[in-house]
Amino acid sequence: MAEHGTRSRYTYELCRCTECVFANATYLRRYRAGDVNREREEARRQSELNTACALYLRVNHPRVYKRIKQRIENA
Ligand SMILES: [Zn+2]
Repeated sequence: MAEHGTRSRYTYELCRCTECVFANATYLRRYRAGDVNREREEARRQSELNTACALYLRVNHPRVYKRIKQRIENA
């Protein structure tokens, strides 16, 4: 179950406590201002960049790629 004060709790578990109502209102304000879509678009671009960089490394510097990958997997 999601924490109180989250939109998830408000939306999926229909909690209407003050914290959840506030979290939902905050989200809707950000959504209307276009912030949510801007953040999604930024995340999509960042993900595309990460994929391109990983591919470049894997092809051109396989040992470096392998070392980075191991470090992430062991974190
Ligand atoms: Zn709540």
